[in-house]
Amino acid sequence: MKGIFPVNKFRELRTPFYYYDTKVLRDTLTCIKTAAAHYANYHVHYAVKANANPKVLSIIRESGLGADCVSGGEIRAAIKAGFPAEKIVFAGVGKSDWEINLGLDYNIFCFNVESIPELEVINELAAAKGKVANVAFRINPNVGAHTHANITTGLAENKFGINMQDMDRVVDIALEMKNVKFLGLHFHIGSQILDMGDFVALCNRINELQEKLFARRIIVQLINVGGGLGINYDHPNRQPIPEFKNYFATYAEHLKLRPGQELHFELGRAVVGQCGSLITKVLYMKQGTNKKFAILDAGMTDLIRPALYQAYHKIENITSDEAIEAYDVVGPICESSDVFGKSIDLNKVKRGDLIALRSAGAYGEIMASGYNCRELPVGYTSDELV
Ligand SMILES: *Cc1c(COP(=O)(O)O)cnc(C)c1O
Repeated sequence: MKGIFPVNKFRELRTPFYYYDTKVLRDTLTCIKTAAAHYANYHVHYAVKANANPKVLSIIRESGLGADCVSGGEIRAAIKAGFPAEKIVFAGVGKSDWEINLGLDYNIFCFNVESIPELEVINELAAAKGKVANVAFRINPNVGAHTHANITTGLAENKFGINMQDMDRVVDIALEMKNVKFLGLHFHIGSQILDMGDFVALCNRINELQEKLFARRIIVQLINVGGGLGINYDHPNRQPIPEFKNYFATYAEHLKLRPGQELHFELGRAVVGQCGSLITKVLYMKQGTNKKFAILDAGMTDLIRPALYQAYHKIENITSDEAIEAYDVVGPICESSDVFGKSIDLNKVKRGDLIALRSAGAYGEIMASGYNCRELPVGYTSDELV
């Protein structure tokens, strides 16, 4: 599938760079909207941390999704892209005072609170401004997810959220406070989750917690189940759009909501993952003792997922039709973990060939660093390169 890339345009650009196929992004957003529209009470937010490229953000904003932010910088990026403040939610275990104040100044929809000390600070800062902050409690549901250990977040051993045993106490504290309004419960169990059973386990846990609240005659306004839906890294062409229908239906089937309750989602990877590729040039071919290395001008500073999570990205030589050979595909950074893939089958590679690292729209450009004094990669959309 070389035909999907404007290779001639690519030749004019300095590598490495990110390329976002806006058709894939728009089709994905349409699919989300259509699938969620079956349920009157569903509210979908985009998790800005997956990709905050302004051009990408603005396309997502046009689709009408809300924004899930985990820092003051992300709140600014979301506001700048035109997301309405009343559709912004703010999570994170370590919110600084200035970040909380920023959220208060914009009157964002909800703070997803991760500890009692944080709740106290929000109440104080809101009081100083004469405001009432909407809050939901991020509860750690102690539900595992069948994904990489570094991206599970819902186990008791993880730093995120408030222990289930503390829920009643936190709710009591919030109900006593004058400058916070308790809206509901928030969860997020991890990322790149493809087994719907993990989400079912979360639903079952939420049902238990809701029963506990109900026993105290508390019915919250909203439940926020976070994000985590995975994408198909093996087959980006065959499955460019994740199974949103199935995902939303899983919650509809297993989560017992009370009449009038809203269900909120925070999807990141599933929205932007498949629309992006990292485009890089082959610098050198090197014959090792018993393998061949393809040395690229992109490295872990441009795309850190393989080094950080042993993640797999499909790698394609988009400028060669020659016979397939096996290569270790590596970057130029002075780290042994700067490897994109070992024994990867590629059309025979020569210096100057362009290589695409697929499914790199999420946690790619946004995680780029300047290590080794490297420049950050630029992101282009297909709209710009026609
Ligand atoms: C990262 C994150 C998300 C998005 O996760 P994805 O796996 O990209 O869908 C949602 N909510 C919170 C609180 C997060 O930290």
